[in-house]
Amino acid sequence: TLQEWQQALREQFPIIVANPGLAYLDSAATAQKPHAVLDAVQTYLTTTNANAGRGSYPWANRTTSLMAQARRRVAEFLGDRDDGDRSAVHFVSGTTEGLRTVARDWLTTHLGDGDEIIVPFADHQANLLPWLEAQQLLAAQGVRITVHQLPYQASSHDYDPAALAELVGERTAFVAATHVHHVYGGNLNVHRIRQAVGPRVPICLDAAQSVGHLPLDVGELDVDFVVFSGHKAMALPGSGVVWARNARGPRFEPGGWSGTPNTTGVIALTAALDWLTAADPARIERWTVALAARLTEGLSGLTSYQVLGCQLSLAADSTVQQRQGIVSFRHHGIKSDDLGFVLASHGFLVRSDSHCQARAGEQEGSVRVSLHVHNTPGEIDRLLAVLRSLSP
Ligand code: PMP
Repeated sequence: TLQEWQQALREQFPIIVANPGLAYLDSAATAQKPHAVLDAVQTYLTTTNANAGRGSYPWANRTTSLMAQARRRVAEFLGDRDDGDRSAVHFVSGTTEGLRTVARDWLTTHLGDGDEIIVPFADHQANLLPWLEAQQLLAAQGVRITVHQLPYQASSHDYDPAALAELVGERTAFVAATHVHHVYGGNLNVHRIRQAVGPRVPICLDAAQSVGHLPLDVGELDVDFVVFSGHKAMALPGSGVVWARNARGPRFEPGGWSGTPNTTGVIALTAALDWLTAADPARIERWTVALAARLTEGLSGLTSYQVLGCQLSLAADSTVQQRQGIVSFRHHGIKSDDLGFVLASHGFLVRSDSHCQARAGEQEGSVRVSLHVHNTPGEIDRLLAVLRSLSP
């Protein structure tokens, strides 16, 4: 059963097992690590630790081949069926650096005067600032591009489709989008973006909140760049990925290759992707979506709380995107910071601030509950009991 499957997985997180009195509800900030990842790190560092791409003794050769294997693993995990021929996996330090790399090393070399790009303005600022920076870098070279704002529409858990249709034009040369919104939890409709821009415009997907949480298939989504952080996918901080499809245009060759790569981080990422594949992202999605629905339903009965984004927890029709395992809310009479503090004192580890949201975001902040496969219905029910006690 789904319960037995979940119980077996929960037991594989040492930090969760060691703290039965705490509920970790902050996986969107960083994910906890299963044994398999910790063991892979320990084993590598205690058996064949060496630098990659240098030296010709067995440890160095093995490290080099583990890096190559990791590239293939990432491509496979993302559903890339090009066999590495026309796509590339670049290791970076995380989503922030990955998006910045696409902006600096691809955008600034592929756009021309008068081109237009569409970027989200109410998502994580890591998916806004690099595009504005690229615009400035281009301007310094005499190339003027227009950056259009794509608004998030809370009532549909998606980008505003009318705004999208309006912003797309002859000169649209690039779109940056987010797969799952890090505050509202909406699973954004990437197909609609592809339909709107047509087959030729590159789309870059910020998958920080989706890798490991739901199936992600680059063929099915038809995107050109996928960027994510290892630490949110149960691997280590300081590791991240830019996957680039090179078939649809000139190649993406980021600079800065000469340094020592984050070998341990990349090895941990391979172990994490293996673990997530075995756990099955489609099942993880079913589990966390159900927990989020339990929470939003509970909150909808409490008059003191406002849930941000769409209230619907499950897609009632095809025009409303599904809420993933992220629920942000506010109390009408208690500041979010204070509410976060109260919840922490009851053992609920949540985030409470404005969540690095870019311009046009929620200025007041909110409490964010973000879920992963180790969370349980019991945790949600206990959280709701505390929230209820603070609501008249
Ligand atoms: N994009 C989104 C949607 C995120 O949620 C985050 C992390 N909160 C980032 C980008 C930045 O990720 P990192 O800090 O790992 O670079």
